Amino acid sequence: MREVILCKYGEIILKGANKATFESKLLKEVRRRAKHFGNYSVRYMQSTVYVEPLDEDADFNVSELYEQVKKIFGFAGVCLAAVCEKDIGDICRVAAEYIPQKLRGAATFRAEAKRSDKSFPLPSPEIAAEVGGAILDVMPSLKVDLDHPDVTVRVEIRDKFAYIHAGQEPGAGGIPMGTGGRGMLLLSGGIDSPVAGYMMMKRGLIVDAVHFESFPYTSELARDKVMRLAKLMTEYSGRMRVHVISLTEIQEAIRDNCEEEYFTLLLRRFMMRLASRCAESVSCPVLITGESLGQVASQTLKAICVTEDAAGVPVFRPCIGLDKEEIVRTARKINTFDTSIEPYEDCCTVFTPRHPKTRPELDRVIEEEKKLDVSALEERAWESRYSTVIKQFED
Ligand code: ATP
Ligand code: MG
Repeated sequence: MREVILCKYGEIILKGANKATFESKLLKEVRRRAKHFGNYSVRYMQSTVYVEPLDEDADFNVSELYEQVKKIFGFAGVCLAAVCEKDIGDICRVAAEYIPQKLRGAATFRAEAKRSDKSFPLPSPEIAAEVGGAILDVMPSLKVDLDHPDVTVRVEIRDKFAYIHAGQEPGAGGIPMGTGGRGMLLLSGGIDSPVAGYMMMKRGLIVDAVHFESFPYTSELARDKVMRLAKLMTEYSGRMRVHVISLTEIQEAIRDNCEEEYFTLLLRRFMMRLASRCAESVSCPVLITGESLGQVASQTLKAICVTEDAAGVPVFRPCIGLDKEEIVRTARKINTFDTSIEPYEDCCTVFTPRHPKTRPELDRVIEEEKKLDVSALEERAWESRYSTVIKQFED
């Protein structure tokens, strides 16, 4: 018996003239992952991508690859299915052999059939009845429940073969990566920014990251944590370029020359300028941050406006309307939470003011900034940058 992965399109179905571009990105991503696990054929038909192992002993890899396709943006649902000939006898035989292992723990089920190939001699209700009967023969204690079954078994009669599965799971949703352009994520070691990056990847952006550090006030361990977060995000993106820029001199200049209540705002304006420059240098037209309105003093409405004023490109803040609890839920889902809560310092927590301004006026902040040689500081920080590419399947 052959087992394959079926991946059902999400929003792409709604695309008109651009559909082919979306499809080709999606297939490329499935092929990239499949290649890592073995020899697979990847093809699409009727809003479904079929991933079929070409090697006989690929059983083990299919389930690993299955976990991978759940992370590909663009699919609404995925499932493992058994393949059989388009013959009702073969369909029932395969159903009786394949489905019981998928129904473990279920007390009730129902069978459904769908014929994309209308030339198949039996109508859908009859196929469903035959398959249901074949399953009951081998699992006599199971009951049929048409309204609220524990599991729905589906038979799909398609172009070349019939497929049988025990229900699909949700896919990653979103639209294929790379169909929306590029964005530069400001990646700290915290909970919010990896979630923000994930959310924009899901909407089709290729995401680069820029991380600011302040050695020796921040440590190698803090940087390593950020690299591990980036690595976890490559589970979705495949690869991520991380740019690292030092803010040490800028932070010391702010500490030595400016009023304490403005420290964080001034620092964040430098971050925006440098991140914008970094974005433009690699043709990213937008920045992405993990800010959430009202979360901390630097994320009040006025503080965000003061920060935004220093950005040279638009800033996306996908977490802006989310509660911390909602952000945490996503962080757990994408597996970044446990790493994010490791207790390493961030440059934003170096020289933090005891009483930060929560309702800053832009004019006043700009006055404060005049105490610094902004362009010289920015230039030297820019010179400190380096970048590294992190790939999903490489150590
Ligand atoms: P997070 O949980 O993502 O660390 P936070 O709660 O620590 O965010 P802030 O420190 O105010 O909040 O940072 C707000 C946003 O600014 C972060 O989500 C991130 O996008 C960006 N940011 C903060 N510190 C850094 C840094 N060291 N390098 C790059 N970006 C940063
Ligand atoms: Mg935050």
